[in-house]
Amino acid sequence: MADTIFGKIIRRDIPADIVYEDEDVLAFRDLNPQAPVHVLFVPKRAIASLDEAQPGDAELLGKLLLAAAAYAREQGLAKDGYRTVINCNEHGGQTVFHLHVHLLAGRRMHWPPG
Ligand code: 5GP
Repeated sequence: MADTIFGKIIRRDIPADIVYEDEDVLAFRDLNPQAPVHVLFVPKRAIASLDEAQPGDAELLGKLLLAAAAYAREQGLAKDGYRTVINCNEHGGQTVFHLHVHLLAGRRMHWPPG
């Protein structure tokens, strides 16, 4: 798949405010935060979108969600709650085609989303 801005962040070609890293996952603060806490959890092995994920990606997708949940717990965000979002393709509002989980917290979220 085509390289993206997130690929450049993973390779440290461009800076980001990294808050978590393990063998498979990198997490960094969103440049344009939509909540007091807005962190992106990105797999180091790129998948363009959720629509392109394959059965063989199940473990990686699980790790992404568990990393976001563990971070929220460690940061004391879980009791009040938070939202995780994966935007997919145009109508989903996806702008960076390297699959990522948004973790939004620190304010009450609204439903339905815009
Ligand atoms: P999407 O719209 O694809 O679901 O989410 C992409 C997110 O990446 C957006 O919330 C946007 O603010 C964020 N973003 C885009 N470029 C950069 C960047 O260079 N650095 C960081 N930290 N976030 C970015």
